[in-house]
Amino acid sequence: MPAIIHIALGSNRRHGRHGLPQGVVAAAIVALADAGLTVVARSAIRTTKPLGPSKRAFANAAIAVETNVAVDDLLTLLKQIERDFGRRRGRRWAERVLDLDIVTAGGAVTHDWRRARQGLIVPHRSLAARAFVLDPLVDIAPLWRHPVLHLTARQLRARQRRPKPQPAGSP
Ligand code: ATP
Ligand code: CA
Ligand code: CA
Repeated sequence: MPAIIHIALGSNRRHGRHGLPQGVVAAAIVALADAGLTVVARSAIRTTKPLGPSKRAFANAAIAVETNVAVDDLLTLLKQIERDFGRRRGRRWAERVLDLDIVTAGGAVTHDWRRARQGLIVPHRSLAARAFVLDPLVDIAPLWRHPVLHLTARQLRARQRRPKPQPAGSP
């Protein structure tokens, strides 16, 4: 039976042919469909302030795809598409023309999810902490439930938006 998988897309560099990050993300969705994935839902493409070492704003989106491709093979395909868009190996979080992450694979959970550090990890390790992933995911799958944290996408976003307690001694 085909699985529904959610993929997060991000870009913060322009591309010679596809133009600004928004255009890169839109073109990447087309490339994923051309690669044989059935795109069943797509969020708006949002502009997100940069986090980490990069200074450029990101365009972010999420899509739901229906596929029979195994999740490891899907990651290989995503990395191939990143390369096709000119992504070079580099620092994590650095500027990149295209980043494609597997956010969820339905109810699938990587073995020993809480401690796993290597290889493919699903649901994506940082999903619950990132507004730029949760916002598009809520657009397309508000009721998807995290199989380890047992909260829906919408509940995860509400939790992420709550002010964080300040460490003792901070101003
Ligand atoms: P982050 O994973 O924090 O979003 P990143 O996307 O910048 O950072 P990359 O350099 O693109 O990190 O990927 C680092 C490695 O993460 C990849 O080689 C890939 O094998 C691994 N990885 C683990 N889980 C996933 C996942 N769910 N989706 C995509 N890549 C993953
Ligand atoms: Ca990422
Ligand atoms: Ca990535």
